[in-house]
Amino acid sequence: MNSKPNLDGIGMTSRRTRERLIGRLMERGIKNMELLEVMRTTPRHIFLEEALAHRAYEDVALPIGHGQTISQPWMVARMTEEVLGLKRLDRVLEIGTGCGYQTAIIAALSKSVFTVERIKPLLSGAKTKLKLLGLRNIQYKHDDGTLGWAEKGPFDAILAAAAPQQVPQELLEQLSDGGKLVIPIGDESEQRLLSISRRGDEYEQQLLQRVKFVPMLRGQVKH
Ligand code: SAH
Repeated sequence: MNSKPNLDGIGMTSRRTRERLIGRLMERGIKNMELLEVMRTTPRHIFLEEALAHRAYEDVALPIGHGQTISQPWMVARMTEEVLGLKRLDRVLEIGTGCGYQTAIIAALSKSVFTVERIKPLLSGAKTKLKLLGLRNIQYKHDDGTLGWAEKGPFDAILAAAAPQQVPQELLEQLSDGGKLVIPIGDESEQRLLSISRRGDEYEQQLLQRVKFVPMLRGQVKH
């Protein structure tokens, strides 16, 4: 058996199935053509277990083990579109690498990506997949991302894939002037996806929508 995943996909992971997903993202209001093209060409099925790969191009979140989920494609697109301005992003921080799918999308649209994940096996798995895709502009850290990654900042964009109860001060401080933080805030019953822009020492907050993400937890998990 071939142990290397098929990047092109067959059957339910084929090009035609992927086109349908892109159509759906457009219907739901995603407009950035560069982003849509990256989502068209990024194989989501390789980030999933074989038993779930046939569902990779459905617009749903799916389990990736350790009680975590791969984000829904529309959510990845929405959050990415929010931070993509007219210019290409220079430095991006991602909190919650998970399986690495969002990382792959943002890495194709930025100069450097710094990604932090608290569950070590998820981070290792993501690293393998992202290397397989030939993405070399990513730096990885096994840590509690609530603290950000101060040494690598400031960042033009910070994307959080897990929800803390309040906006972590460290993340606000690590935004560059003109930078944007997109983060779900709240407990498991109710969360709001916020987009927070920095202008000098002023922060402007916009509510994007109600959402449901996994909680942002403190500390690290080694196994
Ligand atoms: N974008 C990812 C989302 C994974 S789910 C994907 O599509 O696969 C959210 C991830 O955030 C989980 O892997 C979880 O372990 C991670 N996470 C939760 N709290 C965290 C924290 N404090 N620091 C870093 N990662 C965290």
